[in-house]
Amino acid sequence: MADEGFQWTCPFCGHHQMATAQNTHIDYTHFFIGTSKYGKTGLSHTAVRCVNPQCNEVVVTAGFHESAARGANYIQGETIELWRLRPESSSKVQPDYIPKPLREDYYEACLIRDKSPKAAATLARRCLQGMIRDFCKISKARLIDEINELKNALNDGHAPKGVELETIEAIDAVRDIGNIGAHMEQDINLIIEVEPGEAQALIDLIEMLFDEWYIARHKREQKLADVRAIAAEKKAIIAEGRAQIAQAKAAAIADPVDE
Ligand SMILES: [Zn+2]
Repeated sequence: MADEGFQWTCPFCGHHQMATAQNTHIDYTHFFIGTSKYGKTGLSHTAVRCVNPQCNEVVVTAGFHESAARGANYIQGETIELWRLRPESSSKVQPDYIPKPLREDYYEACLIRDKSPKAAATLARRCLQGMIRDFCKISKARLIDEINELKNALNDGHAPKGVELETIEAIDAVRDIGNIGAHMEQDINLIIEVEPGEAQALIDLIEMLFDEWYIARHKREQKLADVRAIAAEKKAIIAEGRAQIAQAKAAAIADPVDE
């Protein structure tokens, strides 16, 4: 690792920071087990401690690699497999003002994405539908009906701020992924497989909508509250100044200065 470190975001708390030699450990062990089908191999392990004092968590990853000969030693070569040991999931920390059921579906979908992409996609799809119901206040039996209703609302200018046509089209494009219920009704023998990449596409979309809908709305509300607070403060100062002037005038009339 270079001495100057690298940009790093803690997956536990979302804190952006520099990972430096003080809080990062990277090590490689060559396996003296002969030549496998992968050639010479070894294990890497990496640990990074979060410098945010409120978090101070440890992120651990391990990797199975080809070993490359370097003089009399072996160093880490091409990666064969990587494991995220802790935290186990690739989910990003989401703020508390996003409704809990939505956050839970999202976290769980991230956690099981690789082991059960089909279940992850089903959860992610439910999360998307939950967002349309909560954020856009549109509730229909089927996701496709909700998407159409949202398109109509957008055309009429009634869609909530932050809802764009391209995001509605993106939801429409992925709405069949993870739609187990509908496929089961049609043909029980038809098993629609879901690849981890497809489940990840749904997860990416959820993260984008958390950002564009909930987080953007929260930031807007906070900014407006700040503006209102400043305006109220200014108003109070002006009112106080006027009251003082009026008081001074009244005092002058009641108690005229002797000539
Ligand atoms: Zn942290």
